Formats: sequence, C-alpha cells, structure tokens
Amino acid sequence: MPYNYLHVVRDAWSAPQMRRVPAKLTVALCAVAIVALVAYREVKRTAEREVEYWDWLSMGTLAELQTRDHSIARAEAQIMKDAFSEVEEALSVFRDGSDLSRLVADGTITVSSTSHLARVLNFALKVAEGSGGAFDPTVAPLMEAWGFRGLKVSDPPSATSISNILANSVGWRRVEVADSGDGRTVIASGGTRLDLGGIAKGYAIDVAYERLRDFGGENFLINLGGNIRVSGTNGKGGGGWTVAMRNPLGATGNLQYLPRQLRSGEAVATSGSYERFIEINGKRYSHIIDPRTGMPVDNEQLASTTVIAPTAIESDAYSTTLFVLGEEEGRRFIDGKDGCQAFFIGKNAIGLDALRRVEALCALGQRNALTPGAHTAAKWIADELAAIGLEPEIDEFNDPAPDGSERVFRNVLATARGTCPGRVLLLSHYDTKSGISDDFTGANDGGSSTGLLLALAKHLAVCPAAPYVTFAFLDGEECVRSYGEHDGLHGSRHLAKRLRGEGAALDAVILLDMIGDRDLTLTLPRNGDAELKRRFLSAADQVGRRGAVRLLQYDMVDDHQPFIDAGYKAIDIIDFEYGSLPGLNDYWHTPADTPDKLSAESLQAVGDIVLHMIDGH
Ligand code: AMP
Ligand code: MG
Repeated sequence: MPYNYLHVVRDAWSAPQMRRVPAKLTVALCAVAIVALVAYREVKRTAEREVEYWDWLSMGTLAELQTRDHSIARAEAQIMKDAFSEVEEALSVFRDGSDLSRLVADGTITVSSTSHLARVLNFALKVAEGSGGAFDPTVAPLMEAWGFRGLKVSDPPSATSISNILANSVGWRRVEVADSGDGRTVIASGGTRLDLGGIAKGYAIDVAYERLRDFGGENFLINLGGNIRVSGTNGKGGGGWTVAMRNPLGATGNLQYLPRQLRSGEAVATSGSYERFIEINGKRYSHIIDPRTGMPVDNEQLASTTVIAPTAIESDAYSTTLFVLGEEEGRRFIDGKDGCQAFFIGKNAIGLDALRRVEALCALGQRNALTPGAHTAAKWIADELAAIGLEPEIDEFNDPAPDGSERVFRNVLATARGTCPGRVLLLSHYDTKSGISDDFTGANDGGSSTGLLLALAKHLAVCPAAPYVTFAFLDGEECVRSYGEHDGLHGSRHLAKRLRGEGAALDAVILLDMIGDRDLTLTLPRNGDAELKRRFLSAADQVGRRGAVRLLQYDMVDDHQPFIDAGYKAIDIIDFEYGSLPGLNDYWHTPADTPDKLSAESLQAVGDIVLHMIDGH
C-alpha cells in the first residue's frame, strides 16, 4: 500500500498540469494535495540526501566527485576536471611543455607568483625544511635510479651510484625561489630535477575545492587518487562525511573507515608502500624514497600513514613525510601543526592486537568448561566485543555433561555487518582442557584463535567492504575423557543446530585453532570443504605462506565437524605441529602451551589469510 501511494504522488508531481477542477471535487482534491505535498517533500528530501557519483581518470589516477549539489553536479564535475588538467599542465614531470619540465630543461624559469608551480614549490620547500629533508621535491634522480620513471632496472643501484646521486643531484637547498618584486617568482633548479608526485595531487584537490566553493558547491567530496577533501555533509548524520580509506592490512581492496568523520573543509591522504612499489630481483621496493639515505623506505613496522589536515596540500605532503620519518619522529613532526591529525598503521597491527588479547585472556586463569573460569572468560570476551563496538550475545544453553547431568554452557557471538554480499562464520573455542595442570592456560590452544578472532572483529567492525561476518567463541570444545555425544564439541554442536534451525544461510564456516605458533605450519585436516580448502591455499599463496601448509590425510575431531554434519561448508585451520622441534606437537595439552611460544607475525599471517578468504564472498 505505501508503495502505490507514493507512486501516485510522484507521478502527480513529475507531470504537473494546470487544469480547471470541477467545484465538487475541490475539497477532496485539496485533501489529496496536502497529503501529496507532505509526501512530495519527503520524496525530495530523500533525493537530496542521496549522493551522486562521478568518476574519470586525471593525472594518471582515479578522480571522483561525490556530490549532493544535484542541480549543478555536472558543472561541478567539469570544473574539477578542468582544474586537474590545468594543474597537470603546470606540474607534470611527464609533460614536455609543463612549467616543471621547462624548469628542469632550462635550469631556471620565471613565473607568476600565484602560478601553480610557485605555490606548490614554496610549500614543498617549507615542508622539506621542516622535516629535515625527509620530504624533498628533488628526489627525481633517485626515483629514476630505482626504476620508478620509465626505465626498469634489473639490479638495485649500487651504494656508489647512490652516494654520487646524493652528492651531486639531490637536496632541496639547491633549489632557489626568489620574488622578483613585480608579482613574479624566479625559480632556479640548481642542476637538479624535481618530482612533485608527493604533493601535486593534494594541491590539485585544493584548487578544485576552492573553485567548487566559489561556484556555489556546498555538499561534496572530491578525491584524486586517495587525496580527499570534503565540503558540507553527506546527509547521513554526524554533520560531516564518513570516509573510508584503503587499508594496507589484510586483503587488497579492503576499505577501512577513518576513526572519525571529516568536517567541512577538511582533507585526508594516505601514504604507504603496499600499492605502489617496484620489484627488483623478487624484492619489493617502496615508491617513497628516503632522501637522506637514497634508499626506498623499508619500514619494518609501518604499513601506512594517514593525515587529516585543513587543506589537501598539507595532508598529501605530510602523509608522505610521515612515512619517511616513521612513527616516533613523525609524531613529533605533526604535533603542533594546526588542525592536523595523524594515524599510523603498523604492519602487524592485527597480529599484535591479537597477541595482546591472548595474553589478557590467559592472565584471567583457566577456562575449563563448567567452571567459574569459563564463565569469567565468556564475560570478558563479551566485554571486549562491546568495546570494539559490536553487540555481543552470550548464548547460554543446557547440554548433558559427560556424567549425564544437564549443565550450562555459554557461547559468545557477535556480528560485524559489512556491506558486501555473503555471510561468513568464524569460529574459535575459548575453553581450556581440564586435568592437565593448575597452570595450563591454553595460550595457543583456544587462546590464540580467541585473540585473533577479537582482533579480526575489531578490524572488520570498521571495514564497509566486507561481508557479514559472525564471530563465535565456543564453549566446551575440549573433551573430559574422549569425544562423544556428551563429551566435547558442546558449543559447536549447539550452534550448528541453532543456525540450521533458524535456516541461516552461510557461505563459509572457518574454524581457527592453535594458530599463533612462532614456527607456523598450517595443517588442514581431511574433513573440510574442498572449495574452502582451495580458497585457503590461494589466500596462503597471496600472503606468502603457501610453503607452510600441509594437507593432512586424516580427519580431525574438531568444532567444524558439527557444521559439516549440518550441511554447511566448513574448514579447520590448525597448526598441529606445535612443539620444541619442527614436526613435533609436544607443547599441545601441556603446561608448555604459554603465550611466549606465540608470535604476532604468525597471528597476522593467519589473519591475512582469513581476510583474503572472505574477501569477495
Ligand atoms: P604519496 O603517494 O603522496 O605518498 O607520494 C609518493 C610520491 O612522492 C612518489 O611516487 C614520488 O613521486 C614522490 N616522493 C617519493 N619520495 C619522496 C620524498 N621523500 N619526498 C617527497 N616526495 C617523494
Ligand atoms: Mg603525499
């Protein structure tokens, strides 16, 4: 009914025709008109809230306009496009006739003080000075030596050639910019070549932004290769724009929301080595070069840097600078810069987070099923999920214990609601095996997968480009004597039955256990879905861990089995070689299963594999 009603109203207003209305119908029509007017306003409001998208290629990358200024959207796209072309004409190193190319060719150029070249170069030199040369617009000779400018190189440049380049061609102090007094600026390149790739896109965004505002644009987001600036609001609440950036961790193409909305006028940019790099002899080199050493930035810890700033030229230049400086120095650099905020994403952020959580879980003490310790652990997991921003559910259920008595078990569940199609269930048990020793805390056995699932929950809670992912922390996996109808797999049997009963459609059920071993070997039991195994192998390949995988020729009794029995596609990812020597499993179910045996790198690798597996589901 509401649909028909709206439909009629829309038609009436999209084809307004003046005609005389017979008197006796007027009253009735008036009533309709008032309702229609209210409803029409509603329709119009909905439309205004909607965002219109335009995109095209500019300056060798993707340009995008998102706008709610519907009546001038086309004109806005054109203004942006023209602004980008104009900046490219002035600043591109790839265009022979550009001001920048002429400066490099002739060694000097005189331009208007308000020209793009003068403005960008002035700011670039300021950042160069402020960063102690970490940001340097004269990196062009180094970019070439490393094969980033057309000519591919078969070997990395030698130490001698790098020091020659540093001694003779690189260094922002060589460049001189002088005001000639008549509104013109004289630039001398001092025998070096310039590369404005770390700043030009941000500057172009600012030029477009100012022009769109002057034109009357109010609510828009503009993006040039990840350099973003916003105006007004996206109309979806919060008073600004919710922006997602490409996330260097996990699967490629994974987007992650910024920790806060961008307010009107603000800009953001990200720098990292994960998307643009060059491969020489099988080793990857970052396209961001440290001008102080001549080497591509090879930061062990840092995957990317993101900067929110009042203008896009700042966010662009500063994000590149911070990637060179690293987190510690970078924080000192950005502190005190008005309106600027920086975010550093570490290479093993998920793994480190997971490890921290495993340690916290183990510190709570034993979690043997049907003991207060298990109840404490369930509450702790639920609290962690709530702190992440998800809505945890503690699913309490009765099940016969090994002695036949009905007892209470607790699974903990939460769902991250990504916007991509598909639904994935990630499983871990959290209980510890009873009867081993008083100090057994199952750091790898139950602990590692619980920690990793929580870290993945935190990661996926802010990733819009993911499917629905439900995290289930299962109770009573371990058996007291031997696995049977009333012993072990309590949580998984209950959950599989519950989901089947609810008619839940799942694309994949992925069980993780014992995945934190420093010496990571991933052993896949035979019982498991073939397609998921293939997906797993290709994901392991993508993260460079294919060599650590063994496909077992035997089945394993584990929490994935009840899901297979219930007709779901399930897989068990487990490292069943957890011991003092490669191939041994002598830490398993012993007091030696402690957090110090685990590593953030292993947890990160498994996290990456899982993210690749669920990507595109
Ligand atoms: P971005 O993607 O904004 O972080 O900038 C990376 C680009 O900046 C590279 O592709 C080079 O063109 C340039 N670049 C590389 N290293 C530096 C540096 N240390 N300072 C300034 N620009 C750089
Ligand atoms: Mg930059």
